Amino acid sequence: MTGLRLAVVLLLAACGTARSEPTKPTSKLPAAEKPPAPTDLRAFIEALRPDALSRGVSPRTFAAAFSGVTTADPDVLARTRRQGEFARPVWEYLVGAVSPGRIARGQAQAARLAPTLAAIEARFGVPRWIVLAFWGVESDFGASAGTVPTVRALATLAQAGFRGTLFRDELLAALAILERGDIAPSGMKGSWAGAMGQVQFLPSSFLAHAVDFDGDGHRDIWGSQADALASIANYLKSLGWNPALSWGYAVTLPPGFDLTAYRADLSDFARRGVRRTDNAPLPSSGNASLFLPGGLGGPVFLITDNFEVVRAYNTSDSYALAVGHLADRLAGGPSLVAPWPSDAARLDKGGLQALQTGLSARKLYAGEADGRAGPKLREAVRRYQIEQGLPADGYATPALLEHLKHRP
Ligand code: CA
Repeated sequence: MTGLRLAVVLLLAACGTARSEPTKPTSKLPAAEKPPAPTDLRAFIEALRPDALSRGVSPRTFAAAFSGVTTADPDVLARTRRQGEFARPVWEYLVGAVSPGRIARGQAQAARLAPTLAAIEARFGVPRWIVLAFWGVESDFGASAGTVPTVRALATLAQAGFRGTLFRDELLAALAILERGDIAPSGMKGSWAGAMGQVQFLPSSFLAHAVDFDGDGHRDIWGSQADALASIANYLKSLGWNPALSWGYAVTLPPGFDLTAYRADLSDFARRGVRRTDNAPLPSSGNASLFLPGGLGGPVFLITDNFEVVRAYNTSDSYALAVGHLADRLAGGPSLVAPWPSDAARLDKGGLQALQTGLSARKLYAGEADGRAGPKLREAVRRYQIEQGLPADGYATPALLEHLKHRP
């Protein structure tokens, strides 16, 4: 869990955006950006050998893994140098991640794979719609699992010292997978940063969570849909997925709703007039909190502890909301009808950093001023809003930053 979580945090930092592209082939670079000259990898690979052998990797596997790998992958190096300007707003991310085409493709897969999905639900306790939604967001149901050879990508990142020793450790984990024979070296492919196959697991996550569900003796997240889907479910189960609850619920608030009590039991929210947009009843119990990713007036969600399980897979609110909403849509749920705010009503990275700094000075925010909107900042914004008698939607706007600047 921590391995992937850490890696994703680092990748988000590297990309400066919610992870929206790892599943796409990475060979295309912007025209203006010239790939760096490849460097020789052979000395690095030789220096890795003792560590690999001491972990049970045979000389034969080692040789096969690095066969033909002699230089760094220039596309991978170029990707590490790309800095996103600022994170895309959640609604932009949702448009791409939960498109009508993707919903239709997912529903077709749900029908085709119904017996497998039923068996996965029974064994792991994770609903098929969530498993399918992960699969859809990570690799468009296997269609975009990535074509970058993983060993070369990881060796490139490790030799470059990108993010410390993280990718060296992942490279050693990749060698362990090859030693087990789950996949041949030529088949071990994925995204530029080492996320592999239809589920985009880093090698360490593969070792911890991948499952052989079709019973052929190989954990094959590249070629086996059953293995890929069961690996997702096993991952979520081990992170603590609670089968009694959904990821969250799209809801509406009654007029005059008291936003200061934003964390409560689901039964309490129901009693206070919060209703699901699909008109189904809320579960009779379970912790939940209100999430207004576009502020008051936009779509409203009650998120459960399972939302944090999804965020552990990828620490972006946009990502988790995309998985959750796609799951709802695959299950036949309604689209979001409340309007998202205009671009003018959101803060860019610099604005978010200024807000974080201002809230820190008031002892309302204890995290880094990293310009990332997430649960910590949301909490701090709510505390400020409650302190100031503003609607406590937890949404950071330019108006809120101005308000903060003019408070003594
Ligand atoms: Ca298998």
